[in-house]
Amino acid sequence: MKRILVTGGAGFIGSHLCERLLREGHEVLCLDNYFTGSKKNITHLLENPYFELIRHDVTTPYFVEVDEIYNLACPASPIHYQYNPIKTVKTSVMGAINMLGLAKRIRSKVLQASTSEVYGDPSVHPQPESYWGNVNPIGVRSCYDEGKRCAETLFTDYHQQNQVRIKIVRIFNTYGPNMHPNDGRVVSNFIVQALQNQEITIYGDGSQTRSFQYVDDLLEGMIRMMQTGDNITGPVNIGNPVEFTILELAEKIISMTGSRSKISFLPLPQDDPVQRQPDISLAKKILDGWSPVVELEAGLEKTIAYFNHLLNS
Ligand code: NAD
Ligand code: UDP
Repeated sequence: MKRILVTGGAGFIGSHLCERLLREGHEVLCLDNYFTGSKKNITHLLENPYFELIRHDVTTPYFVEVDEIYNLACPASPIHYQYNPIKTVKTSVMGAINMLGLAKRIRSKVLQASTSEVYGDPSVHPQPESYWGNVNPIGVRSCYDEGKRCAETLFTDYHQQNQVRIKIVRIFNTYGPNMHPNDGRVVSNFIVQALQNQEITIYGDGSQTRSFQYVDDLLEGMIRMMQTGDNITGPVNIGNPVEFTILELAEKIISMTGSRSKISFLPLPQDDPVQRQPDISLAKKILDGWSPVVELEAGLEKTIAYFNHLLNS
């Protein structure tokens, strides 16, 4: 049994991670400031004596004795990370410094939830870890993209300078139950709109692509990464390489929900990446043959059922 700290544990991915780690027999400390997360995502865990909830902001230091730290605290959806961009940078950068400082002091492992956004609007396709990216340093997405890039730098430097046991995973678009209905990301938006027979809002002409990963596949990859030896630090891409256009996603969701929604085309936000697909060769190699197993339709079915229940309750 390990004692594990999950920052951002009340968010979409964090809540699934807390649940899975508890199921595996670990003690879990969930730290969150509830900016985009919700206690509702973890209320069912509160009665578990091995689960502890901490209201805290990662931009200030926090001290605790744990074996592992998963650093997930950071708003992930463009509308939320752009709401207070300075705070987003602080969360990524100061949050990384605080969690790395803690890991250094207690000699624990620390895993950073990085992102495919470090590749920006990529000119290399699919994206391998060796690609340095194409990121606008002063655009509307920069607070998130550059914050996450700087966090990767800090992780690498703490490892090289202080031998901190780091792991960096670059997460590609992930979806599933527990996403916030007003989160603003494409999968949750389209499902909520389709279930309410409202217009499906495609930004641009819908020809931009994304590769969607179901949350369970991500958890498997992240946990395997945490278990690798100290010589393996990443970064490693964790995503599902099957690529869809946003228009294809909209049509799939309309058909799966039997919705009467019509599609409306709205302006494309600034710096919206045109294409995104992970090269997962490295993950397969270092994570014991890991590869995503949940197909889009199966994952969407579970996510649609979740939102259906949420909207009806
Ligand atoms: P989310 O917004 O649902 O979860 C983030 C959590 O962090 C929330 O519970 C929020 O309240 C908390 N948080 C934010 N700022 C904080 C702060 N200063 N102190 C403490 N807690 C804070 O998003 P998510 O999709 O679950 O993403 C989790 C992590 O994974 C993020 O770091 C995100 O950048 C990364 N990621 C997610 C995706 C994806 O597709 N979901 C893709 C790439 C990377
Ligand atoms: N998108 C869209 N309609 C929406 C929400 C998003 O067309 O209601 C588009 C968005 O412009 C982007 C893609 O879907 O091209 C994925 O957006 P999301 O915010 O989910 O993730 P990210 O852009 O960070 O990959």
